[in-house]
Amino acid sequence: MNNFTEDIKTYLETKFGNSIDEASERQVYQALMVKTRDILSQKRYKYNSKLKNSCQKQVYYMSMEFLVGRTLRNNLFNLGLEKEVRELLSEYYFDLDDIYAMEPDPGLGNGGLGRLASCYMDAATSNDYPITGFSILYEFGIFKQIIKNGWQHEYPDNWLDMGSYGLVYRNDEEVEIKFYGKTTEEWTEKGLKISHKDYTSIIAEPYDLMISGYKSDSVNVLRLWKSKANERFDIKLFEKGEYAKSVESEVIASSISRLLYPADDNDNGKALRIKQQYFFTSASLQQIVRKHFMNYNTLDNFAEKVVIHINDTHPAMCIPELMRILLDEYDYSWEKAWEITTNTFAYTNHTIMAEALEKWSVHLFEPILPRIYTIIKEINNRFCSWCNEIGASHELETMSIIHNNMIRMANLCIVSSFNVNGVSKLHSDILVKDTFKSFNRIYPGKFDNVTNGIAHRRWLGQSNPELANYLNNLLGVDFINDLSKINKLIEYKDNEKVLRDLEDIKRIKKTQLAIYIKESTGIKVDPNSIFDVQVKRLHEYKRQLLNALHIVYLYREIKFNGLRPFPRTFIFGAKASSGYVMAKNIIKLICSISEMIEADPLVRDYIKVVFLEDYRVTLAEMIIPAANISEQISQAGKEASGTGNMKLMLNGAITLGTMDGANVEIHNAVGDENIFIFGLTTPEVNSLALNGYNPRELYLNIPEIKDTLDFIRIIDGNGTNFNNIVDYLINNDPYMCLADFISYIESQKNIEKTYTNRAKWNKMSLVNIAKSGIFSADRAVEEYVNNIWKINKVR
Ligand SMILES: *Cc1c(COP(=O)(O)O)cnc(C)c1O
Repeated sequence: MNNFTEDIKTYLETKFGNSIDEASERQVYQALMVKTRDILSQKRYKYNSKLKNSCQKQVYYMSMEFLVGRTLRNNLFNLGLEKEVRELLSEYYFDLDDIYAMEPDPGLGNGGLGRLASCYMDAATSNDYPITGFSILYEFGIFKQIIKNGWQHEYPDNWLDMGSYGLVYRNDEEVEIKFYGKTTEEWTEKGLKISHKDYTSIIAEPYDLMISGYKSDSVNVLRLWKSKANERFDIKLFEKGEYAKSVESEVIASSISRLLYPADDNDNGKALRIKQQYFFTSASLQQIVRKHFMNYNTLDNFAEKVVIHINDTHPAMCIPELMRILLDEYDYSWEKAWEITTNTFAYTNHTIMAEALEKWSVHLFEPILPRIYTIIKEINNRFCSWCNEIGASHELETMSIIHNNMIRMANLCIVSSFNVNGVSKLHSDILVKDTFKSFNRIYPGKFDNVTNGIAHRRWLGQSNPELANYLNNLLGVDFINDLSKINKLIEYKDNEKVLRDLEDIKRIKKTQLAIYIKESTGIKVDPNSIFDVQVKRLHEYKRQLLNALHIVYLYREIKFNGLRPFPRTFIFGAKASSGYVMAKNIIKLICSISEMIEADPLVRDYIKVVFLEDYRVTLAEMIIPAANISEQISQAGKEASGTGNMKLMLNGAITLGTMDGANVEIHNAVGDENIFIFGLTTPEVNSLALNGYNPRELYLNIPEIKDTLDFIRIIDGNGTNFNNIVDYLINNDPYMCLADFISYIESQKNIEKTYTNRAKWNKMSLVNIAKSGIFSADRAVEEYVNNIWKINKVR
């Protein structure tokens, strides 16, 4: 590895006929991407032989989304090569940060769920656990967001153009996937044999993205499947004159891995989504089974050597697919196949909102996947009979897998997995006490909790090197390897010098962000103002609207009531799903408030609003280290966990939040005096919903609410008004913004008062950093390993 810089030079010479001093930035970028990938491939080879020899159990992590973020800096950081490369480049007048900036974000995910999968890949690899990720090689990842005149516009994200250098094409491991057609039954000497006929066949091509571990010999892979037409199949059909079928293979193949669905909750009712789900689960399962059979010559021990993790219900078709392979290709009996299957799968639930629980209509599903459908039906029949036997038939209304001609994917996962986990204590509690109460009764012990975690090496080590280096020198403990050690910082909570140093680092990060804000929006913000940050997908339940209401309230107080607050910069970043009208209107409202303030010479000295376009991992890495306040203001009971809250805490921002998701655990870790909690709790929300939430009454009786909402009606949106939003808040807001509004503005006032006491604020910030250890993805992965996966490290 000492020759890495030599390798770069050689690559430039052989590939482009250039010496490094003649090379372009783009050539240097390509050389770094390719040579880093090659080092990892080589390490992978050694790691893989160790893994093969040990015959140990492995995890396969199935997820429709991996929000990978840029890879080059992460890999150089993990390989310990960053310094060396930076020095080499600067000798030739290249800036490594400019090279990093050329890499597109592999945006193969929408938001939190996909980012979680990537954080776990990173953490498991750094800790030497054998894990393989499976997903789709989307040609277009999450769209690029551009804001024009306050409205979101979506543009295709052609990431492979510059991003494909990190991928390794494995043409030796292609598999065939079958859609449509019909099933036929036939009696053979082995009994009833089901075969799938007249299907349309397509090919899944594997591309591997190497996942490096921090200072580790381990290299795991994220395998991404790309669809292509089955040409061999075409020829056969041409001979039979079935032209239409061969064209069908082309049509299906060209659409399946074309794009990521840009909705972060659900896409019920879309045939292409079903095909995407089956495509990647079938390809992955076939490969896992094939490899297992090659190693052991049997599948009897499959569940002892394989654990397949299902990240939300999107990969749930893994379950009937494994059954299909065992029954139809390896001639297992139903009972034996079911035993293997139910000992193989573990499922993570990510949502309790009814509209986000995946359901497929039988009419849509059955023709596309006839064999898979018959298997799901049989699983359901057997489950229902069993419930009748144990006297639980009255609960089948909620528990059956197929109900009113809809297939309920969460129910399929619960029935077929050996473990089901939620993603924060509160969320897991709601699962067993409410959403899946009946299941918990018939499957005692199947449900548990693993609170989410984040890859702190990326979210602190790489995105905030100023803070990481400072803490490294100050504490003299290796918190980059083991984040729990960051707790040592608590010893400095009354050390004035340390508190001031932390404030200085925060100001450096705020100044860097202020420069970016000026370049990207033209708005000049003051690094001495409070940076109040809400960055996450745009969703009604996340209540960016509540934040906007507070800003309008402040605007009016400054303009009409003589308020002169401590200066504040409100920073937003959020993509809205392309078909989500209300979310897009909320973005427009925030942008219009921003313009109104900028046009007002009095108000703009006190408050600023910036909406940064195209929120993604790379932008998050810039914004989060600069935040003073972390807005986590979802309606209680709605955010399963959140991970943005953890990234912000780790970087010294103080949470302003409801008692929701992992905020509850942050509150518990830092104590009441180091967090700002407001609003209704989950039981209070539930009882208010039951007894009738009456926002109109709040509007009529509370002057702060009335004045704020009346004012929003007259905000100028360049030809749009916001009456629809005001009417929604007064009449039918399911997330009850107005119920929490007064409590929220009280907390905001408290924040301002606290911030002006710099010593007190800095101490709170320090405590937040010091207590963030439990939110490392290393801790979460360790819990998955010990409680669910039961795997060992690769030695
Ligand atoms: C962490 C992260 C999220 C999740 O944020 P939440 O506040 O937990 O919803 C979404 N998008 C990106 C780019 C992230 O890095």
